[in-house]
Amino acid sequence: MPELPEIETIRRDLEQQVVGDTITGIELLWPGAVAFPEVPPLGDLVAGQRIAAARRRGKYLILDLAGGGRLVLHLRMTGRLHLVERGVPRGPHLRAICFLASGRELRFMDQRRFGRLGWVPDEAALAGLLCDLGPEPLAAGFTLEVFRQRLAGRRGALKPLLLNQQFLAGLGNIYADEALFRARLPPLRTAGSLSPEEQARLYAGIRAALEQGIRNRGTTLRDYQDAWGARGLNQEQLLVFRRDGRPCPVCGRLIVRLRVGGRSTHLCPRCQPLPA
Ligand SMILES: [Zn+2]
Repeated sequence: MPELPEIETIRRDLEQQVVGDTITGIELLWPGAVAFPEVPPLGDLVAGQRIAAARRRGKYLILDLAGGGRLVLHLRMTGRLHLVERGVPRGPHLRAICFLASGRELRFMDQRRFGRLGWVPDEAALAGLLCDLGPEPLAAGFTLEVFRQRLAGRRGALKPLLLNQQFLAGLGNIYADEALFRARLPPLRTAGSLSPEEQARLYAGIRAALEQGIRNRGTTLRDYQDAWGARGLNQEQLLVFRRDGRPCPVCGRLIVRLRVGGRSTHLCPRCQPLPA
């Protein structure tokens, strides 16, 4: 599933490539991909609209339209968004096409069909849609002090907390495991029990794991591709995720995989000792 670095990679490509271009129409090959609104048709709302900005919030991609509306996209598990020239043969699992005045097409593919696109009329409606999301971990306003305040009093384990989009927006299974390893913290540690030094390590670990992912244009384990249909490079640089049975890059002990909160979790038992 694409996480913050993967969506940010797509966003940066789109910002360079499609901002300033105009949407001429939308073809829905699977209308179920449109989560909202039901009426009027999405194509009528966006046709003729210039794309004014490409933004990201958590794992959501947002295209601001000059007329005030916003196109919102969530790729979920297997969604892909490709920017192609018109005439490129259509591949499988194509759910929607956004035609651009430049002659190019934004194509939304999604094998598992969990991904969704939608439209909201203005910034207030967008804020309402995304109101449950926690802070952006790479935003300037997300300081160590803000992170400390959010951790205080939390009784749950760290791993599920990092996956909770209301706690922090954008992390999924890959970057949560990478952040915890960088912080030398076990996934089952109680969030509220961290010392100030451990809180600082986790804060730095989260940001470093995400920043590396963005630098490497995302992690492709199976489905993720950037807007050009290319794989990311970060899977070659992961420290623990899906590296069970291989040596820890710090101490050499074999990385193990366990289930935490129903999710596959990867860690070094020596660098991240479990609570006694
Ligand atoms: Zn280790």
